[in-house]
Amino acid sequence: ILRVSNLQKKFGSLHVLRGIDFAVEPGERVAIIGGSGSGKSTFLRCLNFMEIPTSGTVELDGKTLGRPISDTSDVRQYPEAELCQVRERVGMVFQQFNLFPHMTVVENVMEGLVTVKRMKKPQARERALTELRKVGLEEKVEVYPSRLSGGQQQRVAIARALAMEPEIMLFDEPTSSLDPELVGEVLRVIRQLADEGRTMLLVTHELGFAYHFATKVIFLADGVFHEVGTPDQVLKNPVQEKTRTFLNRFS
Ligand code: ATP
Ligand code: MG
Repeated sequence: ILRVSNLQKKFGSLHVLRGIDFAVEPGERVAIIGGSGSGKSTFLRCLNFMEIPTSGTVELDGKTLGRPISDTSDVRQYPEAELCQVRERVGMVFQQFNLFPHMTVVENVMEGLVTVKRMKKPQARERALTELRKVGLEEKVEVYPSRLSGGQQQRVAIARALAMEPEIMLFDEPTSSLDPELVGEVLRVIRQLADEGRTMLLVTHELGFAYHFATKVIFLADGVFHEVGTPDQVLKNPVQEKTRTFLNRFS
């Protein structure tokens, strides 16, 4: 469904992504690992256009997004309407839950349904309650985020993303700001989504979880996909020296 070709991203003189080719098929679950500052978040953000790629193309269902600025350039510009469509189809959950503090839990989940999907409030509320039930938060719907634990806040953020019915879910280190005892409840929800056959990309340092979760593992280093393969190949029998060095830090 989603394909990127020769994706590059620069921040000024900092060349973060240096030509990434990647495709994700329906039902695939991809775990992305790599050192701090290697560009994992930037890569995910380029996929739903929270960052605009410097060059390269992104295809959704075979259709290349944006249009080239000239006949000879692989730099593209993207009309806002097209970006909104992509963001609806590609949902994202962040390390810092990014909930609206002045809205209750159910209002947080309803927000996108009302403003983006133009749903009527009663229907939006019903959908929101359904999603909150799935992540085990039916007791907390009228509470403000500040009254929730980190694990609960992250589950609200997941419910909010799911309510939009995205075709692909991106998770950027969803458990790394949680106290250790709260990590499990969030990973359980992600596990549940995997069992439903959802297409997901997950940036994580939880290598044990990645091993069981992923159909494919990618090690990002030096702005490229340094090693790609099954969990067994990349996490247990890496070929690249750099991958080994990285993994050794965890054992
Ligand atoms: P971490 O594991 O710490 O989350 P990461 O792999 O997600 O790291 P990114 O957040 O993608 O790394 O950042 C990659 C590089 O790009 C870093 O050097 C970062 O400082 C830089 N960077 C990211 N976003 C911006 C931005 N908006 N403006 C300038 N530089 C940025
Ligand atoms: Mg990051």
